[in-house]
Amino acid sequence: MKIEEVKSTTRQQRIASHSHIKGLGLNEEGLADRSSSGLVGQDAAREAGGIVVELIKSKKMAGRAILLAGPPGTGKTAIALAIAQELGPRVPFCPMVGSEVYSSEVKKTEILMENFRRSIGLRIKETKEVWEGEVTEISPQEQEDQYGGSGKTVTSVIIGLKTAKGTKQLRLDPTIFESIQKEKVSIGDIIYIEASSGNVKRVGRSDAYATEFDLEAEEYVPIPKGDVHKKKEIIQDVTLHDLDMANAKPQGGKDFLSMMGQIMKPKKTEITEKLRAEINKVVNRYIDQGIAELVPGVLFIDEVHMLDIECFTYLNRALESPLSPIVILATNRGITTIRGTEIQAPHGIPQDLLDRLLIIRTMPYSLAEIVEIIAIRASAEGLSMEEEALAHFGYIGSQTTLRYVMQLLTPSRIIAETNGRDKICQGDVEEAGKLFFHGKQSAQILREQADQYIS
Ligand code: ATP
Repeated sequence: MKIEEVKSTTRQQRIASHSHIKGLGLNEEGLADRSSSGLVGQDAAREAGGIVVELIKSKKMAGRAILLAGPPGTGKTAIALAIAQELGPRVPFCPMVGSEVYSSEVKKTEILMENFRRSIGLRIKETKEVWEGEVTEISPQEQEDQYGGSGKTVTSVIIGLKTAKGTKQLRLDPTIFESIQKEKVSIGDIIYIEASSGNVKRVGRSDAYATEFDLEAEEYVPIPKGDVHKKKEIIQDVTLHDLDMANAKPQGGKDFLSMMGQIMKPKKTEITEKLRAEINKVVNRYIDQGIAELVPGVLFIDEVHMLDIECFTYLNRALESPLSPIVILATNRGITTIRGTEIQAPHGIPQDLLDRLLIIRTMPYSLAEIVEIIAIRASAEGLSMEEEALAHFGYIGSQTTLRYVMQLLTPSRIIAETNGRDKICQGDVEEAGKLFFHGKQSAQILREQADQYIS
């Protein structure tokens, strides 16, 4: 395996720590239940989130974005994810960090664009049908060789099939015809034809079909002998970025995605602006034809103050596009310099973008809330702990940050296991706290022992 082929797992890991969150946990009046859907406290921010969901659903968010402002570890990512979940079960959630745009190889706006496209979903409705029948006709449609040679090229093949419901004619493209020739299908044979959204995708002899086409697979219902079998509708969720990738590196395959990946010719090897424009055109056509439906997701940009003026300009423009996701920004900064300028502004965000933002604040948690969040997280991770251990986690959290205690959960479990216990006790938590320092502690040590470090 080549190094480039190693898949990055950063994105999954970023969401993994929020797996306990299932939604905003609001009641019918839109008010936050103290602890619901995995979220605890932060009532005002959750209720504001609920209103945002309403605005999005009633299409009143166009051209606008949300800013979550609050100290580290106060649930900004958690609330953004909950908003995405409230919008629907398969709404894409694409988290990124402002500093990600700085790379030596790729343009800043290119990285932003890629993340925009990761957060725009497309739901493709595919109807797959399978017919069983007897071949009555095989007629290749030929064309004189356009390069003046003596040969002819097959442009398509008409195949007649006598099924239990009458005879039908189907048009195959030449590659599928080649596979028929390989199997030596001829008139009088019983074959299966599989079509997807009206295009013939596979043809096979009936005896070989069941194994080759994996008819046992869940999505198939066994075909009654001699009958026309209609397979159920298959819904595929992809993002615009998936389509960009599929077209940049066409792999050839039988699923819809790789089929869409073969639409654009000649084959490209990198995602260019032109390729994206072509994909948008095809996507818009599918939407018009009712084959696909657009599912705007949530693009979450944490530490938005790390973006610079060029990125902010891009963001402003991208928000205006009809193909825009819901953009949720987050920051823990107050008044600070806008990167790339010498101007000071609230959250380091230029005024024209600030004007488009709905700002939601998140507040530090109380001790009781921290304890409750830790308990939820521990059960999500399948950890068991004694009451005192939980209380001690809460205490540490109230002295440091929620994020820091969350990070102590796994080390504490490992310490407990090393000591032959599967339940975490207070001593394990204390030990983990001694082994791993919190940022503030570390800063204090650096100050105290300044003479021992190189500065
Ligand atoms: P940062 O500013 O450092 O990016 P953040 O404000 O985005 O932090 P999160 O990452 O959302 O904070 O929170 C840290 C952890 O605590 C996550 O695992 C998150 O799921 C969990 N968490 C935060 N707030 C809540 C809450 N109100 N209820 C349940 N879990 C929460």
